[in-house]
Amino acid sequence: MKKKVLVVDDEEGIRLFYKEELKEEGMDVHAAASGEEALEKLEADKYDLVILDIKLPGIDGIEVLRQIKEKWKTLPVILCTAYHHYKQDFGTWASDAYIVKSSDMKELKDVVKTILNRRN
Ligand SMILES: [Mg+2]
Repeated sequence: MKKKVLVVDDEEGIRLFYKEELKEEGMDVHAAASGEEALEKLEADKYDLVILDIKLPGIDGIEVLRQIKEKWKTLPVILCTAYHHYKQDFGTWASDAYIVKSSDMKELKDVVKTILNRRN
C-alpha cells in the first residue's frame, strides 16, 4: 500500500513541487491550500503523514498542528516553514520534525522516509 501524505501549503508552487517530488518516491500525495481544508481532508480520510506550512491564511499551522495532535494523536506531522524562528515557539514542539524550506528536497525526503518507516 502506498503511504498517503497530505501537503498543506498556501503557495500553489510549493504544493505542486512537493507533490511531484514525493510522488516520485512512490507516495500517494494529496494537497490542501489552507488549515481548514487540511482538517476537512483529515476528517474525511486516513493519512499516514502531514507536511504542514506554518504561515497560512485563516488558522495558522501551529493551530492546525494542535488540532491534529488532539484528534489524531499518532498521526505524524512535519512542520515545513521558510522561517527558523518558529522553532522557539512551544506550539511547534508537538510536531515530529521541523524543517526549514529549501529548494533541495533531500532533507525533507529523508525525514519523510524515516517517519514513515518508523510507522510500519
Ligand atoms: Mg505559507
